Amino acid sequence: MGERDVNPSDTNDVIGEYAGATAADAAQALAAARSAFPAWSRATAQVRADVLAKAGAELLARREEIGELLAREEGKTRAEGIGEVLRAGQILQFFAGEAVRLAGEKLPPVRAGVDIDVTREAVGVVGIITPWNFPIAIAAWKIAPALAFGNTVVFKPAELTPATAWEFVDILHRAGVPAGALNLLMGKGPLLGPAIIGGVDALSFTGSVKTGHDVATRAITRMVKLQLEMGGKNPLVVLDDAAIDNAVDCAVKGAFFQTGQRCTASSRLIVTDNIHDRFVSAVQAQMAKLKIDHALKPGTDIGPAVDQRQLDQDLRYLDIGRREGARLTGGEVLKRDTPGFYLAPALFTETHNQMRINIDEIFGPVATIIRVKDYDEALAVANDTEFGLTAGICTTSLKYARHFQAHAQAGLVMINLPTAGLDYHVPFGGRKASSYGPREQGRYAAEFYTTLKTTYISS
Ligand code: NAD
Repeated sequence: MGERDVNPSDTNDVIGEYAGATAADAAQALAAARSAFPAWSRATAQVRADVLAKAGAELLARREEIGELLAREEGKTRAEGIGEVLRAGQILQFFAGEAVRLAGEKLPPVRAGVDIDVTREAVGVVGIITPWNFPIAIAAWKIAPALAFGNTVVFKPAELTPATAWEFVDILHRAGVPAGALNLLMGKGPLLGPAIIGGVDALSFTGSVKTGHDVATRAITRMVKLQLEMGGKNPLVVLDDAAIDNAVDCAVKGAFFQTGQRCTASSRLIVTDNIHDRFVSAVQAQMAKLKIDHALKPGTDIGPAVDQRQLDQDLRYLDIGRREGARLTGGEVLKRDTPGFYLAPALFTETHNQMRINIDEIFGPVATIIRVKDYDEALAVANDTEFGLTAGICTTSLKYARHFQAHAQAGLVMINLPTAGLDYHVPFGGRKASSYGPREQGRYAAEFYTTLKTTYISS
């Protein structure tokens, strides 16, 4: 039975129907990946590099078309969609290079007559489960290193973004990934997730904390190598000495762009007393200028929520915030020319860090202001969260910037920049409930997608 892929900017626009895989399909995909592994893992690094470079070149050449498709099915703006495809192309090309750069080590012997080699090998069959909010970038930063280092893959994209996933896999297949080395399974996570975990050697998951826990619990019973990237409740600290225009820009872009549906979104704006009122008014003034509309309409700054379920979750938290006593600006459901899930960006003021709106990840265009007296309190509040993905600070003080860099409990620190927005070659990941296992992206990806072998050779 086919599932419908609907445009969140215009629910009358059905992008297509996609197949819902069964557990038997999953078993078949796993068997195909298993039998493709010996040949693919033994193919030369040049063969794997060529495939990734070719696929990367096609993605880059088709970035407008695929970026538009992505924007149509996910709801981020056309420019954001194209930017994401560009990044995915760059990731494929980066890992084409990494395939031939994968190095081992020769350690000096401490016993006479032995050589010691430390080498890296492919892990085996890797399961890759991804969310809808970066449907091609996240797929790329997992699948590219998996294939570059000789693993075979069973890939399960999110239910809401099957078209982008299909295009991506099609490009890789036509670029020369052999049959069985990359398998696409579209369909329901609760059905396919456990089936995939049941047959892989390693599993890389990005999604919510709740699903991540379920995945981890199942994976550990089979000792599956595991990498989890989950939620965030990312702080952006704004100090009295911040360059205010830049701080406002960081806050508005970090909190609301891409409809706030980013694990790296700035959801808690922690602001010191003396700049508080000026900063809040300037953010509200910027919010009023944002154009929320169809993702493909020229001039749109922010598209819709991805679906009714996400919009309902956003609205539920707006209610929770009001009931907790916070003051709300924005957050109205908007009507546009086409039926879609449009929500005006929402800012809560007069909040404190123990409110649920400051504890739970909302995953919508909703930010809060937390007023603090000084830097020390700001840092304490920034770190007072179960999450630890990204943390930002806006200040002109080198002393506070460096202190924050050293003491923020997060995997990513942004100084005078939005908390969201990373390049394709850097390690990506967080601490605490945000992440588990080795980092993604860059040369650090080899930690997860290869396994070490130490060999002693007696001469
Ligand atoms: P989700 O957890 O609902 O789904 C993620 C994926 O898991 C989907 O493919 C889904 O089908 C699958 N899934 C669902 N149930 C499963 C199960 N029982 N077993 C295995 N797989 C299952 O998340 P989502 O709504 O698609 O994405 C939003 C979440 O992703 C947010 O929490 C966000 O913070 C997080 N995210 C994190 C990062 C990061 O790198 N830290 C990046 C992007 C998104």
